[in-house]
Amino acid sequence: MPKPSKSTAILILVCAAFLAQAASRDYGVIKNQDSPQAKLKSVDLKDVRWTEGFWAERFAQTRDVTLPKLWELASDPKKGHAIQNLRIAAGIEKGQFAGTHWQDAWVYKWLESACYINAATGDKELGEQIDRIVDVITKAQQSDGYIASQTTVRGWPRFQNAHNHELYTMGHLLTAACIHHRLTGQTKLLDVACKTADYVYETFEGRDPKLAEFPRNPSIIMGAVELYRTTGNKKYLDMANFFIDWRGSRYGNGRRNAWSSPLKNGSDLNQNWRPLRKETEVVGHAVFFTYLYAGAADAYMETGDKTLLTALERLWTDLVTRKMYVTGGVSPEHKSHPARSFEPGKLTIIVGDSIHEGISAPYELPNDTAYNETCGQIGNLMWNWRMLAITGEARFADIMERTLYNSILSGIEVDGEGWSYTNPLRWHGSEHVLRSQDTHKRSYPGRRMICCPTNLMRTVASWHNYLYSVDGSGLWVHHYGGNVFDGTLADGRKLKLTQQTDYPWDGRVRITVDAIESGGPFSILLRVPGWAENAKLTVNGRAVKDDCTGGSYARVERKWVAGDVVELELPMPVRMIVADPRIEQTRNQVAVMRGPIVYCLESIDLPKGTRFEDVCLPADAKWKVRHERDLLGGVSLLKTKALVIDKTASQDIGGYRHVSDVQGRYVDINMIPYYAWNNREEPQMTVWLPVRW
Ligand SMILES: [Zn+2]
Repeated sequence: MPKPSKSTAILILVCAAFLAQAASRDYGVIKNQDSPQAKLKSVDLKDVRWTEGFWAERFAQTRDVTLPKLWELASDPKKGHAIQNLRIAAGIEKGQFAGTHWQDAWVYKWLESACYINAATGDKELGEQIDRIVDVITKAQQSDGYIASQTTVRGWPRFQNAHNHELYTMGHLLTAACIHHRLTGQTKLLDVACKTADYVYETFEGRDPKLAEFPRNPSIIMGAVELYRTTGNKKYLDMANFFIDWRGSRYGNGRRNAWSSPLKNGSDLNQNWRPLRKETEVVGHAVFFTYLYAGAADAYMETGDKTLLTALERLWTDLVTRKMYVTGGVSPEHKSHPARSFEPGKLTIIVGDSIHEGISAPYELPNDTAYNETCGQIGNLMWNWRMLAITGEARFADIMERTLYNSILSGIEVDGEGWSYTNPLRWHGSEHVLRSQDTHKRSYPGRRMICCPTNLMRTVASWHNYLYSVDGSGLWVHHYGGNVFDGTLADGRKLKLTQQTDYPWDGRVRITVDAIESGGPFSILLRVPGWAENAKLTVNGRAVKDDCTGGSYARVERKWVAGDVVELELPMPVRMIVADPRIEQTRNQVAVMRGPIVYCLESIDLPKGTRFEDVCLPADAKWKVRHERDLLGGVSLLKTKALVIDKTASQDIGGYRHVSDVQGRYVDINMIPYYAWNNREEPQMTVWLPVRW
C-alpha cells in the first residue's frame, strides 16, 4: 500500500476531525442548520449549560422531581398505565388498554425530555432507563410500521375514528426518535420512526377522502420535517407537505366522525374548512392550529414556499392582535361555535359547526371561563420559535417569552409535581364552576388530561436550546438566564461565554467572553424585549447604546477578545396594562406586569374581611418590589395600596345599587406572579383588576 503524501495525510486528518465533530453534534431541538430559509440556525443542545438562577433551578427540579414523577405515574398500573399499554402491545405482558387514546404520547414526550436531561447530566441509570423504554417501543411496533397501542391492544381497526389520535401519537414518536438519535448517536428508535413514517406515507399518500380527517392533531407534520432533517430522506418532507396541502381541501366529502363537524364542507375545529394558504382567520382548536402553523413554518424553512409564509404572517397578526390573552393564552373557549368573516367586517357565528378548546370571535377573551390548555401555548411557542428562525425578528421571541413565563409555567405547581390543564385568568376559589378540564386543585395526570405535563416538561428540559442562535454575522441572544455557552459560530470558530443574570426578577444581564478562536470581527446581538424602555448596553463599561429600541435586537460588532464584557440593562418598573377596548371583558380594568412577568392577585393576600370583588387599583398606584426567596419557589412580590369599594347596607335592589352608594378605603395588597397561582390553599384569583382613573 503506497504511503500517503503529506497533503493527503493532512486532508485525512481534517476529514476525520470534521466527522468527529459532526458525529458529536446534536444540532438542537430543530435541526435547521441546512434549512435554506432559516436565517438563524439552532445551536447544539450540549453547547449550553444552566449555571444559576431561575432556569437552573427549574431544570434541576425537572431532573430531580418532574421526570421521575411522570415516570412513576406513567408506569403505575392503576394511574397512568401508559408504559403498560406499550408493553402489552409489545407482547411483553398481558392486559387491557387503559387511559386516553393519546396515552402513548406520554411515553414519547417523557423519552424526549429524558434525552435532553441525560445529555446534560450523563446519568448512567437514566440512560439505561431510556434504553429499556426504547426496547419496548421497538417491540410494540407492528411488522408493517404501524404503532398505536390505543388500537392494537384493543384489536380495533386502524383509522376508524380521528379521535383515536393515531397520527398524533406517531407524530410525537417521530420527534422523540430524532432527538434520541441526535443526542445518543443510536439508531434503534430512529429506525422505528422511519418505518412508522414509511407506513404513514404509503397509507396517506393517495389522499383517500375517507382518511381526510385523520391528521387532525397534526404533530405528524413537525415530526415528519424533523425526520427529513435528521435522515435527509425527502419523502418525509413530501409527507409533511401533503398533510399541509390536504387541510381544508375536503369540500363536499360529507364524511362525519365523532367530534367532527356536521357540516359537509369541513370543520373549523381542525382548520379543515379553508386551505391554510387561503385562510384569513385563526380558528378552531388551539393545539391543532398551533401545531399546524409550527409544522407549516418548518416546511417553509425547507421549501421556501412563500404562499405558506404569507399565510402564517397573516394568521400570526390575527392571533396576537385580536385573540391572545395578556398571559399569552390562546384558547378562550372550552366549547363554542366558530366565528367567521364571510364578508369584510361582517362576523357570523357558524352554529352548525362546533369547536372545543379553541378560538371563538375576535376580542372575545373571557377571564374566568378561559380554557387556555397549556399545550396550546406550547404549540404557540414552537410556532414562534420557527418564525424567529425564519425572520430574525424580535416580536416572535417576545411572544415566546410572554407565553413561557405566564401561561406555560402556570401549568405546573411550583413544587414540580402538580399540574393545571386549563389556565384561566380569574378564579372564584372553591365556588368556581368547573368546566370540562378545570380542576379545583392542581392534580396528577393519570388516565385523563395527560398531554400537558409531559409537553411542559420537555419544554423546560430543552429551554436552554432556545437562548441562542447563530448566523453569518455572529451570535444571537434571544432569552436570558444564568448559563455558559460553549459552542461554535457559523464560520466554525469556537466561542465560549458566560451569561450572568437574575432574570426575570432583575433586568441586568452580564455576558463575559471567556474564549474566542482568533479571526475577524463578529456581532453579538441581544434581544431588547418589546416591554423594555430606556434599555442600555455597554461593552467593557463603555456605553454603546443608550436608547436600545424595545422589540428589536441590539447589535454590537467588534473583534471580540477573551475578557470582554457586554452588559445589558433592562429597566423593570411595574407596568399597568390596559387591553384593546374592544375586549369587553377587560374594559376599565388593568393587568400588572414587571419585566416579562404578568402578576395576579389572590384573595389570600388581602387583609381579613376584604371582599375580593371590591378591590380595585388607583391608576396612579405606587409600587414596591420585594423578592421573597422562600415564597412560591422564590418570587418577586409587588406591593401597593389598593382601593376597596365597600357597598353601603342601604338601597340595594337585588344585585344592583346606586353609584352614589359606594365608598372607598385603602388596603395594602401583595401581587404574585400569575404562573404561581393556586399553590396556597384555593384562593380566588384575578389577573385583571378594575381601575379608578
Ligand atoms: Zn395538553
